[in-house]
Amino acid sequence: MSDVSFDTLSVHQSLKNKNHFTSKATPIYQTSSFSFKNLDELESYFEGETPYLYTRYGNPNTDELGAAVAALESAESGVAASSGMSGILAGIVSVAKNGDHIVACDDLYGGTYHLLDTELKNFGIDVTFVSFANEQEIREAIRENTKLLYTETITNPFLRAENIEMLVSIAKEFNIATMVDNTFATPYVLQPYKEGVDLVVHSATKYLGGHSDVSAGVIVGSEELIQSVRQKIISLGANLSPFEAWLTCRGIKTLALRMEKQNNNAQYIADELKENANVQKVYFPKSVSEKGNGAVVTIELSPQCDIHTFFASLGWIKIVPSLGGVETSVSYPFGTSHRNLPPEAQEKLGINERVIRISIGIENPKEILAELISAIETSLI
Ligand SMILES: *Cc1c(COP(=O)(O)O)cnc(C)c1O
Repeated sequence: MSDVSFDTLSVHQSLKNKNHFTSKATPIYQTSSFSFKNLDELESYFEGETPYLYTRYGNPNTDELGAAVAALESAESGVAASSGMSGILAGIVSVAKNGDHIVACDDLYGGTYHLLDTELKNFGIDVTFVSFANEQEIREAIRENTKLLYTETITNPFLRAENIEMLVSIAKEFNIATMVDNTFATPYVLQPYKEGVDLVVHSATKYLGGHSDVSAGVIVGSEELIQSVRQKIISLGANLSPFEAWLTCRGIKTLALRMEKQNNNAQYIADELKENANVQKVYFPKSVSEKGNGAVVTIELSPQCDIHTFFASLGWIKIVPSLGGVETSVSYPFGTSHRNLPPEAQEKLGINERVIRISIGIENPKEILAELISAIETSLI
């Protein structure tokens, strides 16, 4: 299937799989384990001839998801995990162990920052956080025992598009692995594996699932590295359930359609809000790829707006501390994802009580804009 476009590939992800009694949709293999008729069959599993033994080790639905995202990222292999966070953990511990060191971007998803800054340090993996906008800071942070450079392709909530080419070239020079979180961009917008990144991870909870009804993660990379990530997922018990894998695969069938619409809507909203006198700043990346710039727009309202009134005045746009669904929603970094950061760190990043992150959905763009503008006008003090 590698000779067809992204749009076609995202719909026909399951075609290469078995025949499933000819059912058009892949059935849900809601089973904890697989049975064997005799010991020869059992033996054939261990010789790699029969694919399944026990769902924590592998299941047709989770395999379908791993393979689908690997195909969309043009990677050799992929594996599903129970959430974005467990995917991130499994990926990191596949390349770094006790005594090793990681250089990570200082502007990461809150959960990832916490994982690196507390849990991994407790396991004896040291982490230095630096601004990845600055090549010199990255170089200076690298030590003898550095095993990994870690960042996100589009950062949250200020949507800085990272320079992946620069990252890969530093990593090659020092013989260090690279891992990036491609959740905000999705493989529709960016395919970092093609640029030489070793491991690409997704919170499939967001755009890959796309309907805010599943928690899932996926990691893709080379056959060899993914084999080791798969082993970590088995040991950590971080496998995804068959039903959630199935839901995510169903979501992926419309990924190209949704992303095209959401990216266009986001571009329109960002452009329009730049013209609004009550919006002090609009954060939206430029030229991320020819497919678009993602579908999250972050704004800072002017001091003339009362932030509580703004949030209370949104009609059908809900306040949701997540992103990536088909519905437009807003989140409040100051009160959720970034609330535990010390004030200096908030100030350095640009987080304050007037910053709002908008996850743009597939609705009519003029109606999304009207809803936002109406809430802004109601909020004027
Ligand atoms: C949501 C998110 C995660 C964590 O994913 P979960 O599926 O909630 O575990 C990691 N990285 C980014 C960029 C996210 O947006």
